[in-house]
Amino acid sequence: MPSDRKLLQEIVILPGTGKALEMRRGQVLRIAQTAGRQCADFNCFNLHDYKEFFHTGRTRHLHGMHPTKGDFLWSAPPRERPMMAIIEDTVGTNDVLYPRCSAFLFEHHYGLAVHTNCHDIQAEAQREYGLTPDDVHDSFNFFMHTGISSDGHPYIAKNTAKAGDYVELLALMDVLAVPNVCGADVMMTSDFELKPLKLSVFEASDADWAKVTEPPRMKNQRNPDMFKIKSIKADRELYKDAAYQPDFTNVPIEISEVEVDLNDEEMALLSRLAATGKYGETDAEVLRYVFHTWWIDKFMRGPKHVPKD
Ligand SMILES: [Zn+2]
Repeated sequence: MPSDRKLLQEIVILPGTGKALEMRRGQVLRIAQTAGRQCADFNCFNLHDYKEFFHTGRTRHLHGMHPTKGDFLWSAPPRERPMMAIIEDTVGTNDVLYPRCSAFLFEHHYGLAVHTNCHDIQAEAQREYGLTPDDVHDSFNFFMHTGISSDGHPYIAKNTAKAGDYVELLALMDVLAVPNVCGADVMMTSDFELKPLKLSVFEASDADWAKVTEPPRMKNQRNPDMFKIKSIKADRELYKDAAYQPDFTNVPIEISEVEVDLNDEEMALLSRLAATGKYGETDAEVLRYVFHTWWIDKFMRGPKHVPKD
């Protein structure tokens, strides 16, 4: 640990519990194993606007299913900002594939109608800041060891975290950070036993900031000033706005034909691809496929979700 760090807070969370922590930009949360082999579920919210919250989906899209040191925790669309940076990870087995465990899950899978679970623990910890059970969202699952089998099914593997292992998250904005001891003792997640976790909050040092790469800044990382509806709906009932007029982007969409000249050699290549039957039914469809996959391969930023062949 960098010696110039100042410790601000240190607590141990016991099995069945979690804790909402106010963190300012530039503070570091360390989540540490006590006995080892314990999964920590984690949610975070923008401290000044809880409608901006951590999103497993965008984080998974950008960093894969096992984000680790060097990766960010991203907020949900349309905000899409890095909320926290993972600056240390001594294990490297994290998961953003599985949803949080819930009371329903234990009742449905195990017949346990009353059981400690991450949804209810998160809800109870978040209640300290006025949030409701509907405000809990899917967790970042630290130390949860998962994978995908060759037949495409996700699985939970044995937890390999040892006593003293830890992850560290640097807050890039003011957040309400909510870690909890995962409540699943009848699953592989925490090796069938719930153990405490130690939470420490530090002031980040220059060495900590040096571990954070510059994230992208785009016009489309939106804030409520850019929304057509700026106020948060305060009642639960849904009813129609009589004054509503649809105003969709680029609508009506106009589709136009583009003429493409191919020489004999290019046409022969296209015919060979068309003959495989894999890329489209017409020459135009095959050419469109070839153009876009070439462009993605050459120019697209970020993970390229295209088949290998
Ligand atoms: Zn859980």
